[in-house]
Amino acid sequence: MLTVKTTALVSLVCALATVSIAAALKSHRASSGSALRPVAMETASVVPVKEAAPAPKREALIGADDLQLLAARRLAMPVQGYDALKLHDTFDELRGGIRKHEALDIMAARGTPVVAVDDGVIMKLFRSIAGGITIYQSDPSEKFAYYYAHLDRYRDGLKEGDAVHRGDVIAYVGSTGNAPANAPHLHFTIFLLGPEKKWWRGKAVNPFPYLAAR
Ligand SMILES: [Zn+2]
Repeated sequence: MLTVKTTALVSLVCALATVSIAAALKSHRASSGSALRPVAMETASVVPVKEAAPAPKREALIGADDLQLLAARRLAMPVQGYDALKLHDTFDELRGGIRKHEALDIMAARGTPVVAVDDGVIMKLFRSIAGGITIYQSDPSEKFAYYYAHLDRYRDGLKEGDAVHRGDVIAYVGSTGNAPANAPHLHFTIFLLGPEKKWWRGKAVNPFPYLAAR
């Protein structure tokens, strides 16, 4: 029950935060007159939220062979000690009434270790208004990027280019970005990267089937 309530709270606050971020960006632009780079929101997509028509590149389906590859990776639970039976599928929830969440929110106490779900490389340590302190980690083939957000902090010494192994502690759960301070959680998703292997340009894949109790 508590989890359900908390998740609802997260959705609400995420929605409110999205509105205030838009307002803040607008006023910032107005005051500084400088062009801002697109801010990575909770997802890595840089497609403007207000676009009327869906962006064509996000319509591409993810092939069954890619999903099979992902299943074969046998991903670890990204929050250390989290019971897979308690996982909720929050991928298709709406945020801000318009934008799909495209991630899982995994509730955990602040400071709980976040571990690498797979072997790979730290592609990017990134800070954004919505995601707060985040990590983009590749899988060994750089076909996928694993995205960890709202982190409290990185593991000491973690840097871009570091090789990590499945189960290595890489960060700690927090509430940076637009997560409510009283509901720390890990916002986690998977991106299928394009051939250019850019960390900010991927198609979100629902991690739920790969993390839920099997
Ligand atoms: Zn989230």
